[in-house]
Amino acid sequence: METKNMLDEDSYNALLKGNKDWVAGRLKEDPEFFIELAKGQHPQVLWIGCSDSRVPANEVTGTRAGEVFVHRNIANVCVHSDMNMLSVLDYAVNVLKVRHVIVAGHYGCGGVTAALSKHQFGMIDNWLRNIKDVYRLHSHELDRITDETAKVNRLVELNVIEQVYNVCKTTILQNAWKERSDLQVHGWVIDLATGLVKDMKVTNSGAENLGYVYELNQKHAAY
Ligand SMILES: [Zn+2]
Repeated sequence: METKNMLDEDSYNALLKGNKDWVAGRLKEDPEFFIELAKGQHPQVLWIGCSDSRVPANEVTGTRAGEVFVHRNIANVCVHSDMNMLSVLDYAVNVLKVRHVIVAGHYGCGGVTAALSKHQFGMIDNWLRNIKDVYRLHSHELDRITDETAKVNRLVELNVIEQVYNVCKTTILQNAWKERSDLQVHGWVIDLATGLVKDMKVTNSGAENLGYVYELNQKHAAY
């Protein structure tokens, strides 16, 4: 684009230079790194995180290419009709056989903040409606919080917890748990101010805690 200014051009070129530096760094440590990487992936973790540029899965967890399978969207929402999320989840659980699914939110999330407002932002309002539903489920607690930052951050935590349950409610997880005992779903919140992860302690490794109406025990039951 002719209108692109120098700063944009520099930012773009920096990406290509960054790639060369990354390749050089990996090869210096392990000359076979890319030969092995090209053979295939065997990640043990599926990361479902926010699209926010400050929470990259590998960097936050100190992992490398090949170690984390990643799905990200605005405010790490897991919607049971989202074919993108379901496809990633199914592939990760049933083909890659990951052992950990991590839903990772972060304090100060712009998506959660937007969901708390009454402003219209366009198409995204339909996506953020899912977070407004989380608010409605927990309105007794959230209505009592008067500090706006604290309210956003508590909704961030509750959103992660609800999305963990949404993942667990899928037939993908419930069927996998009938065959495997080595599959866990976790909820994390990243504190951008420290970089540290807060484990929300909602790890699930079975369908027992989902509640009667969500448990799916029989396939093809007559109704
Ligand atoms: Zn976010």
